[in-house]
Amino acid sequence: MSNWSSKERYILRIKRTKKDDVISSDLIYFANSKKTMKLDILAFGAHPDDIEISVGGTIISEVRQGKKVGLIDLTRGELGTRGTPDIRDLEAMNAAKLMGVHVRENLGLADGLFELNNENKFKVIDAIRRYQPDIVITNAPHDRHPDHGRGAALVVEAAFLAGLYKLQAPGVHSEPWRPKVVYQYMQFVLHTPDFVYDISEVVDDKIACIKAHISQFYNPESLEPQTLIASEHFLNNIKYRASEFGIQAGFSYGEPFMVKRLPGVKSLSALW
Ligand SMILES: [Zn+2]
Repeated sequence: MSNWSSKERYILRIKRTKKDDVISSDLIYFANSKKTMKLDILAFGAHPDDIEISVGGTIISEVRQGKKVGLIDLTRGELGTRGTPDIRDLEAMNAAKLMGVHVRENLGLADGLFELNNENKFKVIDAIRRYQPDIVITNAPHDRHPDHGRGAALVVEAAFLAGLYKLQAPGVHSEPWRPKVVYQYMQFVLHTPDFVYDISEVVDDKIACIKAHISQFYNPESLEPQTLIASEHFLNNIKYRASEFGIQAGFSYGEPFMVKRLPGVKSLSALW
């Protein structure tokens, strides 16, 4: 236990003593725990609320269909105007519990400043190899926040490199693994999607997961500075946008995705 960081001990102490904050034994939060398990889906976000905003409904639906799903946040969002890294860690864990995912980790890259360098690629490669996902989900190719596009580039590159068996480095899980596909979600800037995922049944659960990030979103009681995403309009816009993409695909609410590889189907009935 002596090699744990003080941050890990802090999180684990909360896990034991605060009944409302009990996290499942499967839920860990710091990358140096080096957990290994086979997942169906591994979703990445540059910041601790990106996944909830963009694909919270998809994640909830997939978990309810029995898929094993993990989340990886690249940074702790320490440059965010509201909240602190400690508060955001707890909010991310609470959101993970609501979504029912099997694991959530934070790679601890530098918010706003992380680079597309080998050190960071190795961290993402290690995570992909440890969790062996068939599907990787990540940020949009470019977006309002520059971390989103850079984070996506890091994950897309790492998803390929993770399959190269000769790529070995200290601290990186040695067994190669390449996901079958990488899907990219849409967060702020509008893109043309390649498909839309039906979240009609879970749209309110998605909003609840977003609201678990109490420090970040609309809260009339908050004394922190006003930000674009903390406005009531931003929260409403998430639902409007899900409605807009949903109706284009014949659903009440939907989440749009982009695909790097040409999508293929084995039955025309698989597309609606
Ligand atoms: Zn973000």
